[in-house]
Amino acid sequence: MATYRAVIFDMFDTLVNFKNVHLPLVQVNGREVRSTSPFVYEALKPLCAHVPFDEFFHAFVGAYRAAEEIRNREQREVTAQERFQMVFARLQIPDGPGVSACMEAGIAEHMRVLARAMEFPESHRTLLDRLQPRYRLGVISNFDHGPTVEMALRTHGIRDRFEAVVVSADTGWRKPRPEIFAEAFRRMGIGPAEAIFVGDTPEVDVLGAQAVGMDVIWIDNGTKALPPGTPPPTHTVRSFVEVGDLL
Ligand SMILES: [Mg+2]
Repeated sequence: MATYRAVIFDMFDTLVNFKNVHLPLVQVNGREVRSTSPFVYEALKPLCAHVPFDEFFHAFVGAYRAAEEIRNREQREVTAQERFQMVFARLQIPDGPGVSACMEAGIAEHMRVLARAMEFPESHRTLLDRLQPRYRLGVISNFDHGPTVEMALRTHGIRDRFEAVVVSADTGWRKPRPEIFAEAFRRMGIGPAEAIFVGDTPEVDVLGAQAVGMDVIWIDNGTKALPPGTPPPTHTVRSFVEVGDLL
C-alpha cells in the first residue's frame, strides 16, 4: 500500500447516502414518482399561480432532463439557477421584478427537501474520526448548488474535517474533467500522487481520478459496472466502511 498525505472523497453515495425514498411521493398522470416538485411549486406560486401543477411538473422534469443531457455531453455543471431558468423558459414566465428572489426561494425549497433524503451513517463518522489525524481530507462533488453541499456537511457536524470542499456548481466543470480535481489540489497545496480518491461512480470518480494520475478506491455497491476497458482501480471495496481496512 502506497502512503498518501491526503484522501479526497466523492460526496453522494460515498460520504453521504442519498435515499430517494425520503422524497415526497407525487401522483402525476396516474403515476407515482418521487419528487421535490410539490414544495417547489408552492414556493414559486407568486410566478406560477396560473400554471396547473401537471404542467409545472412537466417543465420541472423536462428542464432536469435537458440539464442532465448537457452535463453528460459537455461535462460542465448546469447550476440550480440555470435549471430553474430553463423551467421558467418552458413555462414562458418572463423575467421581471421579483423573479430572481422567487427563483431563489424555489431553489431553497428544492434543496431543503433534497437534504431530507441525505443520510450520514454513524459508521461513516467513526471512519472519518480515524482517518482525520493521519490524512488531510477533501471532498470533490458533482452537484448543482454549492451551499447545499456545505450545509449538508455542517448539518452532520463534519464540515471541519475537510480542508477543501470543491463543488462543480462553483468550478463550472464536473468530474471526470481534470479541472475540478486540479482545483482541489490547488486549494490543498498537493499533487495528484500524494492523494487517493474514494468514490462510487465509475465514469466520473474512477476514470476522473485515473486521468489526473491519482490512485483510486472504487466503492462497488453493486449498482454500477466499470465501463469496458477501464484500467482496474487501485482498490475495490463493497462499502464506505471497508475503506478503513485500506487506509
Ligand atoms: Mg457518488
